[in-house]
Order: sequence, then C-alpha cells, then structure tokens
Amino acid sequence: MRSTTPTSFSSRVTTMSAPNASWKSTMAKAVVSASRLLPSSDGALTFPPVRKAGGLLFKQVENALMTLRQPILSRRSIVGGMLAAVPLLAAPRGWANGPQTVDVVVVGAGLAGLNAAAMLEEQGLVVQVVEASDRVGGRLRTGRAEGYQAELGGSEVGALYGRVRDACARLNVGLTTKGAKGTDFLIHVDGTSVLPADWSKSAVNQTRGKERDFLPYILQNRLMHDWLPFKQTNAWLLPENLQFDISAAELMRSKGVSEAAIRLADIDLNGASLEGVSALSIFRDMARAQVEGFKDPNKPQYGGASLASDRSYIVGGADMLPRAMAAALKLPVRLNSPVIAVDQTGDQVKTLLGNGDVLTSRFMVMAAPFSAVSRIRFTPGLPDAQADAIAGARYSATTQFHFKINKPYWEKDGLPPSIWSNTSFERAFALKHPETGAIDSMIVWVNGDGATRWDDRDTARQVELVLAELTRIRPSMAGALEYKVGYSWGRNPFVGGNKHFYAPGQVKRFAADMGKPAGRIHFAGEHLRRLEHGMESAMETGEAAALEIMEKI
Ligand SMILES: Cc1cc2nc3c(=O)[nH]c(=O)nc-3n(C[C@H](O)[C@H](O)[C@H](O)COP(=O)(O)OP(=O)(O)OC[C@H]3O[C@@H](n4cnc5c(N)ncnc54)[C@H](O)[C@@H]3O)c2cc1C
Repeated sequence: MRSTTPTSFSSRVTTMSAPNASWKSTMAKAVVSASRLLPSSDGALTFPPVRKAGGLLFKQVENALMTLRQPILSRRSIVGGMLAAVPLLAAPRGWANGPQTVDVVVVGAGLAGLNAAAMLEEQGLVVQVVEASDRVGGRLRTGRAEGYQAELGGSEVGALYGRVRDACARLNVGLTTKGAKGTDFLIHVDGTSVLPADWSKSAVNQTRGKERDFLPYILQNRLMHDWLPFKQTNAWLLPENLQFDISAAELMRSKGVSEAAIRLADIDLNGASLEGVSALSIFRDMARAQVEGFKDPNKPQYGGASLASDRSYIVGGADMLPRAMAAALKLPVRLNSPVIAVDQTGDQVKTLLGNGDVLTSRFMVMAAPFSAVSRIRFTPGLPDAQADAIAGARYSATTQFHFKINKPYWEKDGLPPSIWSNTSFERAFALKHPETGAIDSMIVWVNGDGATRWDDRDTARQVELVLAELTRIRPSMAGALEYKVGYSWGRNPFVGGNKHFYAPGQVKRFAADMGKPAGRIHFAGEHLRRLEHGMESAMETGEAAALEIMEKI
C-alpha cells in the first residue's frame, strides 16, 4: 500500500533561461474585453457599478491626470551587458498610492511578478507592482486559524528549484525538509469500500485485463507512462509531438483502455477532465516529473512517497516568501488595484486601475494568469495567437477543506486512515504531523470538474456535505473532524484555478506564441512555463520577462 500527500510538485534541474529571441511580435488587432471586479477585505468579490470600460473612460481619466504626469522616461545604457545603476526616472514623484509614472508596471504580485520586479529593480529601474487582491502571493496562500496553519496553495519546494531557493536564501526565508506525511488509502468506489490488497479481485473494479491490477490512484500515471513519447522537458513543443495534442481520454480509448479505467483515472487529474485535457499537456508534466526522479509508474503521481528528490517547505508558511519578496521592493506593492485596461501609444504604456488611477510606464510585465487577463482591455488589441490563448485559457479548479483530527477513527474501524474515492469529495488525505508523526490533520482535496461542482455552494454548506459524506462512508469518522480552513481556487476570479492546462488542440494553436511580448508588454506566469513547473516556473517566466525588457533598454 502506498502513502501519498496531496501536493503535486517537486523539483528539476534548473537553468538560467535567457529570453527567447523569437518572442518578438508585432501588434495586431484582437480585442480582449475588460470588466471590473473588486475584492472585499475578506477576499469575496463584488461587482462595482459598471462605468464605461472602453477607450472613453480611459481618455477621461487620462485627461484629468494629464497635468500631473512625469516626463517620458529616457533611454538607458547597457554597460558590460548589464544595466547601469541609474534609474530611468530620476525621482519618482510622491502620490497617495505611489508614483504615477514609473519605468515598469508589473501586473500581479505572485512569484512571477515579484521576481520580475526584483530583477528590474536590481538594474536601477523604478518598478511598480500592482495587485488586484488585498494580499501578495497569488497562489502561495497560507491559511491560519487559531494556531492552526494550512497551505492552501503551493507548498512543496523541489530540491532543484534554484530560483525559489536562491530567493529564500537572499531574503532569509527559512526552508525545512519536515513536512506532513501521507497515510495509506481506503478505496471507496461506487458505494463499496475496498482495501488496496483486494482491489484487483473486487467486483467494484470494473476495469479489464491488466488494468485490474493497477490501484485506481496510480491508474492515470501507469497508463500514460507507457506511452510517454519523449523524455526531455522541452520536447513537448517539437512538431513531431504535436500529434499528441488530442484529448487524453481519446488517446486512452485509441489504446484500448476501458471506460471504467478512464473514469477512475480522471480523479487524480490536475486538469478539468481527461476528455478536456490535451494528452500532450499530461506528457509534458510527466517528462518534467521524471527529471525530478519520479520514474516508477507504480507509485502515485502525487505525493511524498512518489518522488525521489528531497522537497522542502517554507518555514512559517509558503506565503512568507512572496511577503519577503514584496517587502524587499523599493516601491510598496499597490494592493486592491486590479488592472482593467492597458493602452500602448508611442513609447508609453498606460495602465488603468480599478480606482481610476492611471500609471504611465515604458514597459509592462503582465504576470496575471490568462484567466484574469481575459478581463483586461488592450488597446491596440493583442496579437491573434495571444488573444486566442487568453480567450481559451483553461485552469484546473481545486477546492480544499482542512480539518483537525480529534479522534483516531482508523483505530475504531481498523481501516487505512486516508480515503480515495469516486464520491463528490474525491480524496481525503489523513496526514502525519511533521514533528510528532501523529496523524492529526486531514485535507479533503477535489480537483478539476469535481471541484467546480462544489463551487456554487457556500462554504458552510460545503463543509456540512463533506462531513456527512465522510461519515456515511465511514461511520467511525462521526465527530472525529473539526473544520479549520478551506479554499476554492476556481472561485478566485484573479486566478481562476490551481494551474493552467491545455485543452485538446490548444498546444498546436497557440502554445509557441502566447508568451511573446506584445510591443512593450511582456508576459510572465506559470501558464507560460516551458521547462520548469509550479513555483519555479513562475520565477522562471518572471525572470524571462525581466531579461526581455533589459535587452530592449
Ligand atoms: C492548490 C495548489 C497547490 C500547489 N502546489 C504547489 C507545490 O506544492 N509546489 C509548487 O512548486 N507549486 C505548487 N502550486 C503552483 C504554484 O503555486 C504556482 O505555479 C505559482 O505560485 C504561480 O505563480 P504566478 O506568479 O504565475 O501566478 P499567481 O500566484 O496566480 O499570481 C498572479 C497574481 O496576479 C493577480 N492578478 C490577477 N489579475 C490581476 C489584475 N487584473 N490586476 C492586478 N493583479 C492581478 C492575482 O491576484 C495574483 O496575485 C500549487 C498551486 C495551487 C493552487
């Protein structure tokens, strides 16, 4: 029997990535519509009364501010390949919320945006990070409730995450290898509980042939592993591999996989569904995981037991890193400042914020997820491939519920502590405390379309339903769990899910072009990953965007 933990990322060999020279583009005419969303202090979103979000509004605000503008930024010289330490802006003028004219506006205070900002500031540029929500960190989010701490977003730092580890070292953010460990699963499928040892012969196991021997939580990997067409992490974009840009379910059917196996394999997918995810997207992730040591297809895709390399966790909570990165910036991050429109004219980029403020800069790093970028209006419109990628951006929803375990229910029924199921809650991970080894917390973790199905209920009702379902399956769990904190990434309108994935045909359509700069707008964020993944891909793409700008100055 295997142990798993719910988090999914680890490490790989890291290299300094130079900006792709082919990522130069001309402006074309696709228009991405803008809408306005403002977060309340508790993170819930409200729609303010709609003001005119087209060019007229932009012009009105701009005219009002015209007299307050700073001079246009001057060109910088590059000395020995590096920028001289003289800011383009001699002295940013003080405003209530920061200067109105800067060298670079960075949109989004996730790792990608913060890393880009740090690198550009290091070169002496005046950089303003603007963040839509009321906090920095984006998908690094630590929940804290009455002494209880839970990671709601990224948490595992791979052994070879060079950029993340370097940032931690520079900013005195601690790393520890002590993390919660997973426990064995009870399988619960179609209303019947089965021990893993009995799975291959169980009547509820409707898979056929050799599929019957694969535990349901290794099924997806076990099947895809045998067909992995490449080993290199950069091979997914090669023309010969584009034939795999088809639905993963379709690929499985073409290989003779049973419908029962496809349904079970879907549960562990970090994507909407096997029908809706490109097989190439899964192969990309699998090749990446192999670099980090995940080579045994008989081990679960996610979790502690599966990966060879040592992972670390950020001391005090994952959000300590973005908080330290933000604190180290010269200009404070502007929170509660969603960008709603971006206007490029001549050598200026004008950025309209939700409160009507306009920032003027020479360059922009757009480090918001494409799910959120789809609500920003660009004038002129972005190039066609990019506009297509933004309009078609798909993110895998994830909804989690964290509980404190108050009673050892597994001692009462003698079954494994964790549950893997095809019920609405999908997976319940009972975890061992990193210090004491005691099984004292549980994360109920739902991915993809399963998570989206939860998202229209309020949290109290969700928790009630999860507890009722767990107790129905295992009566010993009655009264054993105390809800502490939870989060839905699908409901966060500035992120829209746990990670970007490609739908069938999308790799071919726009993967190669979606990250190219559009004039003075440079793009970053995990959705633009090429080699890295998770946190490290955010850092990698932020770095690439910063280098692109440095090359231009
Ligand atoms: C549940 C979960 C578990 C994960 N586990 C791991 C893990 O263990 N290890 C790992 O390496 N990775 C993990 N990841 C992935 C990792 O957290 C992300 O890849 C990474 O943090 C993404 O960073 P980013 O900067 O690209 O995007 P984000 O962190 O999403 O930052 C984007 C920012 O842009 C802001 N924004 C959006 N729209 C606007 C706008 N209009 N104006 C201004 N700001 C805007 C958003 O509010 C957000 O703060 C996990 C993610 C999740 C959700």
